[in-house]
Amino acid sequence: MKTTRRKFLKATGAAGIALGALGTTQACALSNRPAMTVTAMGSGRPRRVIFLVSDGMSTGCLSLADAFSRMVRGRGTHFYELLKNKKASRGFFLTHSLNSLVTDSAAASSAWGSGSRVFNGALNMLPDGETVTPIHWLVADKGYVTGLGTTATVTHATPAGFASAVDSRNDEATIAEQYLGRVDVLLGGGKLFFHQDLRDDDRDLAGEYVAKGYAHWTHRNQVIAQGETPDKILGLFENYNVPYTIDQKQSEKLTEEIPTLAEMTRAALASLEKNPKGFLLQVEGALVDWAAHWNDSGALLWDQLAFDDAVGVCLEFVERNPDTLIVVTSDHGNANPGLNGMGPAYINSDESFARLAKSKASYYQLLELLGEDKENTDPALIQELVLEHFGVEVKDEHAEILAAARAERELAEIHVQQRSFTGQLGQVIGNHTGIGWTGSTHTEDITVIGALGPGQEDWAGIIKNTDAFALMASHFGIDHRNRSMTPEQAREFASLAPKNINNHWA
Ligand SMILES: [Zn+2]
Repeated sequence: MKTTRRKFLKATGAAGIALGALGTTQACALSNRPAMTVTAMGSGRPRRVIFLVSDGMSTGCLSLADAFSRMVRGRGTHFYELLKNKKASRGFFLTHSLNSLVTDSAAASSAWGSGSRVFNGALNMLPDGETVTPIHWLVADKGYVTGLGTTATVTHATPAGFASAVDSRNDEATIAEQYLGRVDVLLGGGKLFFHQDLRDDDRDLAGEYVAKGYAHWTHRNQVIAQGETPDKILGLFENYNVPYTIDQKQSEKLTEEIPTLAEMTRAALASLEKNPKGFLLQVEGALVDWAAHWNDSGALLWDQLAFDDAVGVCLEFVERNPDTLIVVTSDHGNANPGLNGMGPAYINSDESFARLAKSKASYYQLLELLGEDKENTDPALIQELVLEHFGVEVKDEHAEILAAARAERELAEIHVQQRSFTGQLGQVIGNHTGIGWTGSTHTEDITVIGALGPGQEDWAGIIKNTDAFALMASHFGIDHRNRSMTPEQAREFASLAPKNINNHWA
């Protein structure tokens, strides 16, 4: 499906966000529960598997997020607590795709979801056009129930890797059709691909879900309501993605109307746990990746904390249900943020890092406030808004560079990956906070795995992303194995590889 301009505007227009409407503490929807250590644990095969993905979470984000959480919330993170828990398993994923050392989220999630590496941009489709069967379809066939929760569209690459097979991740309209009857609980953004007035083919797909027994949720009140949770849910809370946590915290309207990832996760568990046989649930914190592409440290850290709250909800569930396996990980690194030593003998590092607490908006919001005329951005307006929303004073010469970067004028002597406005802004703010970035795209790094529950011992050491499929299949007693291709076999199809992936949202 191609998105027409009219429909795209309709889709993004709804994300209008009132900045400064509320103080931080007032609007904070994040949990204040201390990080927990789970003690109860089952053995044998899990009946329930929860697979949590912080998309694009470079390894350095783990310690940064824990330090940031201690600074702004007075407690550490659940993810760190899980890794520190001596009863848990710790491991790493090798993240490569079929045609690149650096994967995109579609190939990464396909590797987990089907055990087959595919070209970047493809979802469970081999280069010769043959599809492979994703894990949610196999699990559903065995009588288990399945769920997907995300802060992106529910049809975005990471959720789709568990429950769809298409030649391009961009075909979210088809992915939305493939979920029907195969995924019981869907929570996130993406009305654009379900609602008749937003889909280009005018198909009332949401209506078809309702006809098949799904409750269609569009408001946070439905997610947090007490009482019986429906067996099947299509929960769509934005036309495209849900807002960055840092922006949601500043808006009373968004806080009231749109659930947090933790709230979505709690509702998904309440629905899925009613099935006596068991379930497979994937939960994704998607905007950590998007913030990393933009070198936006404040947005990244707040969304990592929102993801961590979802981890906390799942750890509570595991404590109550020891027959549940929880796996927490990432699909790939992205721009690898890290705190550089600041000042003589690095003694200014902590006070630099502390400046991150002053961030009150995402770069997305800043760009909205700068207006549509990219050619003629006023350097003084950049200085004013960056000081107001990020607590950073931008030097005159840097404001000139930022204005030129926004107009996409040629800049001399810069790191090509960071020639964009957001890349330059990341460096300007990094001079004050100490946060540096390797670039603005995904990285080849291994990713961290924390696992707890029956079967956790298999999720340890350095394993391939494709191993996740075999492990999940064995947990659910599934014999099916998908066809796969070696990089050598795939080479003759190289010219067919998708090339139209937008790096900023991949
Ligand atoms: Zn990405």
